[in-house]
Amino acid sequence: MRGMIIDTQIYRFKVGTFECMAVSDGTLTYAPPTFPPPATFLFANAPRERLERALSEHRIQPEQWLAWVSPYVCVVVNTGEHLVLVDTGANGLAPSTGKLLPNLKAAGIAPEDIDTVILTHGHPDHIGGNTDAEGKLAFSKARHVMWKDEWDFWTSGQAEVKLDEHVKDVLLGFARKNLPPIRDRLDLVDQEREIVPGIRAVAAPGHTPGHMALVISSEGEQLLCVSDTVLHPIHLEQPEWCAAVDSAPGQVVSTRRRLFKRAVTEKALVAAFHFPFPGLGHIVQKGEGWRWQPIQTTI
Ligand SMILES: [Zn+2]
Repeated sequence: MRGMIIDTQIYRFKVGTFECMAVSDGTLTYAPPTFPPPATFLFANAPRERLERALSEHRIQPEQWLAWVSPYVCVVVNTGEHLVLVDTGANGLAPSTGKLLPNLKAAGIAPEDIDTVILTHGHPDHIGGNTDAEGKLAFSKARHVMWKDEWDFWTSGQAEVKLDEHVKDVLLGFARKNLPPIRDRLDLVDQEREIVPGIRAVAAPGHTPGHMALVISSEGEQLLCVSDTVLHPIHLEQPEWCAAVDSAPGQVVSTRRRLFKRAVTEKALVAAFHFPFPGLGHIVQKGEGWRWQPIQTTI
């Protein structure tokens, strides 16, 4: 898979004949007191000794890992027929996020050029760029696509009941600002199907109730967008270790195993929203588990 980094914010690559880009929305630093320490936040149910061993294999000292600086990486796909954006970033969450629009502009894409916006789930970092500071639609010409269970969770009162108190205000604030404006141009998916020719919705629940993955195929090549099925490469090696923000840990584990197997069988390129930029790589089998092999980029 050949690609080119224009700067550290835009990475161009091809999937068959589809012209794709990984586009950064910036980064967010997850650290106390707003968030638990990174090891607790990302691997909430990991046994301590095994966790320390896994971290040291990744050259991370648990006591010194005070902050997780997470990239936010959106994906743009030009199928020739459609210009599709996967997730809209976190406009307004922090000064270090909300860089999607300026980066798209630098890549020669105006918001009204996008005809399809696919939202993998309803967390602030994935829907936060649906609207501008005044609440106006950012991608005003686009059809917006979301899994039906996910839309229902955020808009029918379930989120109010089920979310943890300490994250509730921020998550609901972003949902209330960014979801109602897309209501009139919304296409809800309730089964695995094609969204546009070559881009297929895949059920991937667990991180949130209606979390969605995507299979993007052209000319025998595949890109699997796993979004937040994994947040850190260690989740491939230890698929049963879940993040504090995963809404249904048991479901996360089965979704991971299904998607990892698929990625290996199909030799798919994989896009992971929170992995180091450009968030692209391959999932390779390692014993009973898997590991992450980032693509080689030339800077
Ligand atoms: Zn996320």
